[in-house]
Amino acid sequence: MKSIVILGSTGSIGTQALEVAKRDGYNVIGLAAGKNAKLLEEQAREFLPDAVAMFDETAARELKLRLSDTDIKVLSGIYGVCELAALQCDTVLDSIVGIAGLKPALSAITAGNTLALANKETLVAGGDIVNAEAKKHGVKIIPVDSEHSAIFQSLQGAPDKSLKKILLTASGGPFYGRSRKELENVTVKDALNHPNWSMGAKITVDSATLMNKGLEVIEAVHLFGVKASDIEVLVHRQSILHSGVELSDGAVIAQLGTPDMRLPIAYALTYPNRSETAFEHLSLANVGTLTFEKPDTETFKCLPLCISAINAGGVAPAAVNGANEEAVRLFLEGKIKFLQIAELVEKALISVNNKNDFTLEDVFEADKSARILVREFALR
Ligand code: NDP
Repeated sequence: MKSIVILGSTGSIGTQALEVAKRDGYNVIGLAAGKNAKLLEEQAREFLPDAVAMFDETAARELKLRLSDTDIKVLSGIYGVCELAALQCDTVLDSIVGIAGLKPALSAITAGNTLALANKETLVAGGDIVNAEAKKHGVKIIPVDSEHSAIFQSLQGAPDKSLKKILLTASGGPFYGRSRKELENVTVKDALNHPNWSMGAKITVDSATLMNKGLEVIEAVHLFGVKASDIEVLVHRQSILHSGVELSDGAVIAQLGTPDMRLPIAYALTYPNRSETAFEHLSLANVGTLTFEKPDTETFKCLPLCISAINAGGVAPAAVNGANEEAVRLFLEGKIKFLQIAELVEKALISVNNKNDFTLEDVFEADKSARILVREFALR
């Protein structure tokens, strides 16, 4: 039986991963979350892990009380989450949201655990460092993001150096087809109304701004060793073709399926094998038509801003990511307007104190400076 640790177990990906774990009979030895002690307690009682970790210290104290009648060890704070990520197991699934997932990802890698990575901000902000550590410790990083899982699956069996181009699909989000004028007064509720996927709030807003696609371009650069110019983003409203590759002989190979994150989660956990049952089966006859078109990068500026950031390299992607996390938080709190998210991300990109030779501390410094800049501009 495979043993797994799930970081971010109370979130959208984390809860779906537990469904997969239940179906496929994994031994869940660790669970971590931010502050939702009640749900983590329920999960711990059902899956009986050796240890759980809560980032928030107050919530960790509450969880300790809730689990005081069990033998489950309760860890707390960032060190607790990192300790959990380092438990000896077959795979650590990192589905924490935001840059908060970076240090635990590095901890899993340093411990030699295979990393199933849903948290895209980890590679966006610290891709070079994470890849270098994974190489040093001989650790595999298996993508969970549906697009990157599709690319990864499409590349199985492809000869080395045959990858010519990545086709990265995007649903277009809830505001597809709208002009900037029409986006001026959209609300949080509008932005959270994604047409195809049910996800956490932050990534849903990222999908509405197309920041999510920009972050995914950066993620793909780090996962597959390509340049941003080798990635073609295609708006595909049906979210059935999850992404694909073009190989040297012109063959295009893609992965299709229902828009259900349990499929890429299950693949990341079973790789190189496959689960014996599917949650849902795809009927192409019922889908009927698949459409593809170029994204509107004039209206949705976050996508080209992310491409500029990865082309600039260094800590520019970390700055852009930090600015976006902060701007999305302010938008969700009703403190800024939707279009300001891209404006603030652009300000952070222009202002970043970039360096090509950088450390993990530099990444967190760029993240912090970008957040400060966003708060200063936004709340003036
Ligand atoms: P959610 O907001 O639904 O869940 C986030 C999880 O992270 C929760 O368990 C939360 O705990 C936990 N968390 C937050 N902060 C911390 C912290 N500092 N330390 C430890 N745990 C923390 O997000 P999603 O599941 O939607 O997304 C997770 C990641 O996966 C993101 O990076 C997203 O971009 C990526 N992703 C998500 C997809 C989806 O379909 N949802 C698809 C592809 C990628 P708590 O609940 O206690 O606050």
